[in-house]
Amino acid sequence: MRMRKKKHADERIQVCVDSGYMRWHVLFEQGKPVFLEIGCGKGDFICGTALKFPDINFIAVEKNSDVIMFAMEKAKSLNLHNVKFIITDAKELENHFEPETISRIYLNFSDPWHKRYQHNNRLTSPVFLDSYKKFLKPNAEIILKTDNKDLFDFSLKTLTSNGFEITNKTYDLYSSEFFDFNGNIQTEYEKKFVEQNIPICYLSAVLL
Ligand code: SAH
Repeated sequence: MRMRKKKHADERIQVCVDSGYMRWHVLFEQGKPVFLEIGCGKGDFICGTALKFPDINFIAVEKNSDVIMFAMEKAKSLNLHNVKFIITDAKELENHFEPETISRIYLNFSDPWHKRYQHNNRLTSPVFLDSYKKFLKPNAEIILKTDNKDLFDFSLKTLTSNGFEITNKTYDLYSSEFFDFNGNIQTEYEKKFVEQNIPICYLSAVLL
């Protein structure tokens, strides 16, 4: 379902843009690692993570301006200087970044694209993985959380057959031996699934 265009969305986004929240090029000049979240939604995860790790620079990408608007406003209200935003489809990302600039990608509750003919749209499809490699640093990581087992199994396969090694995985993050309650930062979707006792699948992978 398409969301109704939020009232005054353009003005609200412009306020954040004027405060520098899309001037992400400055992040690269500081020489700190840059972590990317693709499909950041309303920004709970990226803002929580940026707050916790001030020495990392974060870029949050989202194609839907009506939801990224909330993420930008959240970052602004927290006065975060280490997070910037790009409103774009992930397909375009390779045109935004120089080679070897990104150290980690977070994919949180990405759209599952259930039908087989839609699988190329999955953010872990080989097409996307190849495009990420154009800007990932050597040994960069991909960290994925999802409630969707089919997307999870698909991602395990595509990552392993496209130059990544799985370094950790579980079909039930919250009952896994490595789950760190205080370290885990929940996304909006994650909160809802956890409330409904739906298990969260988690993996980390490293670029070989
Ligand atoms: N990460 C958030 C939102 C998950 S919903 C959370 O966990 O709560 C998936 C989000 O990814 C949506 O906001 C959707 O607009 C965005 N998205 C899906 N495909 C995308 C793409 N190709 N490029 C950029 N954003 C995308």
